[in-house]
Amino acid sequence: MLDAALLRGLPLPRHGEGDDKNARGAVLVAGGCREVPGAVLLAGTAALRAGAGRLQLASAASVAVPMALAMPEARVIALPETPDGAIDGSAADLLAERAARAGALVLGPGMMGGGHSADLVAGLLPKLEGPALVLDGAVLEALPDQREVLRRHAGRAVITPHDGEMARLLGTSRQAVLADPLSAAREAAARLQVVTVMKGGCTHVVTPEGRSWRHDAGNAGLATSGSGDVLAGVIAGLLARGAAPLKAALWGVFLHGEAGRRLARDQGPVGFLARELPAGLPRILAEMA
Ligand code: AMP
Ligand code: MG
Repeated sequence: MLDAALLRGLPLPRHGEGDDKNARGAVLVAGGCREVPGAVLLAGTAALRAGAGRLQLASAASVAVPMALAMPEARVIALPETPDGAIDGSAADLLAERAARAGALVLGPGMMGGGHSADLVAGLLPKLEGPALVLDGAVLEALPDQREVLRRHAGRAVITPHDGEMARLLGTSRQAVLADPLSAAREAAARLQVVTVMKGGCTHVVTPEGRSWRHDAGNAGLATSGSGDVLAGVIAGLLARGAAPLKAALWGVFLHGEAGRRLARDQGPVGFLARELPAGLPRILAEMA
């Protein structure tokens, strides 16, 4: 069971009053496309609200300037894009260079699936040296072809699939995943050697060795557009602060669920927005300290 009592025994890294922003680490969120630039903003906001010290966003060039204006706290990197506004596979070199200075990289929110994202993942993963990884959304379907290189990132990667993404990752049906999400998560975690967050009404956090924790204290209002992008950002923020992948995943799932529970209590069970979740995080973190 993943709850507050469990997490009190797994404290997050503490940071001193005199620390500068570099002490709490930098997050790079790479994703989005011309049609879905907001997912990157949601993940980035969540990373800062989870306490990360610095933020970079990277997305298709045509949306980089509006993104920078929407998120004054971030440095924004304009990536080469395809004619339909997706990040081009040739962005891998520039991204790898920027990721070298980040403590955590979120890859995938708002990205289009298909060949361009597969090319990007194939080009980027072998070049990454430093950062911890949160792999989300459309990039997940490219991972089965990257098992060898992913092993180089063993011990520093988290994946955050929902049922449809997990089905594509395992090459099975959504129905099969929904029938036994914990088994699906165990299989993915073992095959790819990554901490796996199997999202849903009940979320399972599973290690490559098959240890698992369940969290069902979330709230139906969390089933809303952009919610998963916020979760990915929270986990990345905690990774940048120095939490290990398992700890960051456990805390991230709890914080996301608790932020949703409080919004449901204050506003009503459905209809709150994903963009409203991050603002609740600092208080929850303070109460848990
Ligand atoms: P995504 O589909 O990527 O936007 O992610 C949706 C997020 O909402 C995940 O963190 C899910 O675990 C969460 N979620 C979805 N449905 C429910 C539900 N019925 N109760 C609680 N959390 C949910
Ligand atoms: Mg998602």
